[in-house]
Amino acid sequence: ADPDGTVSLAVVGLGNYARNVSIPAIEAGDYTDLGAVVSSDPEKAARVADAHDAVVLDYEGYAEGDAVDAYDAVYVATPNRLHLDQIRTAAGHGKHVICEKPLEATTERAVAAVDACEAAGVTLMTAYRMQTDPVIRALASFVSAGGIGEPTKAMGEFTFPVLAGSKGPGQWRLDAELAGGGALMDVGVYPLNTTRYLLGADPGAVEAMARADDPFGDRPADPDSPRFADEHVHVLAAFPDGVVGEFTASFSGEADTWLELVGSDGRVRIENAFVPDGERTVRISSDAGEIEFSGVGANETREEFDYFAHCVLTGTPPEPDGRDGLTDVAIMGAAYEAAESGSRVEL
Ligand code: NDP
Repeated sequence: ADPDGTVSLAVVGLGNYARNVSIPAIEAGDYTDLGAVVSSDPEKAARVADAHDAVVLDYEGYAEGDAVDAYDAVYVATPNRLHLDQIRTAAGHGKHVICEKPLEATTERAVAAVDACEAAGVTLMTAYRMQTDPVIRALASFVSAGGIGEPTKAMGEFTFPVLAGSKGPGQWRLDAELAGGGALMDVGVYPLNTTRYLLGADPGAVEAMARADDPFGDRPADPDSPRFADEHVHVLAAFPDGVVGEFTASFSGEADTWLELVGSDGRVRIENAFVPDGERTVRISSDAGEIEFSGVGANETREEFDYFAHCVLTGTPPEPDGRDGLTDVAIMGAAYEAAESGSRVEL
């Protein structure tokens, strides 16, 4: 049944993704609207707020609980290592949370985020938009119904040329402390999480190689730190029943995103797999023949916020919950450890 009402969101951090993708999706949603914006930049915040009739808060006001009645839930869209504090604040105000991926920068902090929401009795959803993409959802049903037979391997890539962009060496994505890592944490999480979702299974061990020298030449990778801003990373993940996952992520090179699942009776390949609200090409092949759908896709970010609001309004736990986000942070942490040590790391 359709629930009554809407969920009014406070958006914490008015960065690129929040302003250009998430806020338009929230405004377009059937069950969401924008109640407040939290920002360090009062002019930018006023511009966004005026256009949407929302309240403006700075981070201090948000932490202190100013205007808490203006919103029902919080969308966290700041650099990864800031998520925990902002989630704790929301939980402290009794607000439900949808938090951008990755859930946090370290496993310890991701655990604390999950614990804070559980203790406060509020919903925590990790903003995994692939899991609300109708194309990906349909493929998950197809795979679990045996559409490709028994899965044998999964391969995927997300290359996003951050280094070629205009933001330079000072950007938070290259700050291993704030980001929790580099390409793996930022974009490698997509093939990893989407594979876990499609297979309905988690890896038990990982091996990895990463290239971690500083592309700008002014910030050498810290040899004492198990986490570094990896430019290229390649992860092998051992899923149950001998299924092998093989994921690559890069901050340089030509932009590319794809995912392929191979099984005993066929394979599924998705091109343009992880581009936000992108048109995907899906090719399914088996002994029986091949079928290709081009230009399929939907506004999965709008679906994501509507799904979150629907969960909040109906008291339903979201599928990509805090623990789902925590699992990926732990797997990626293990992959960094594996890349550093050159050994297989069990989970
Ligand atoms: P941006 O750098 O564009 O924005 C981050 C915003 O966070 C800033 O604009 C700022 O907002 C706020 N902020 C608060 N403290 C800091 C700080 N110390 N350094 C930098 N910014 C700070 O990042 P993105 O929008 O690209 O990413 C934000 C989050 O969203 C990340 O967790 C990222 O992984 C995720 N993301 C998800 C995507 C998806 O497809 N689901 C796509 C892109 C990003 P203000 O100026 O208002 O204070």
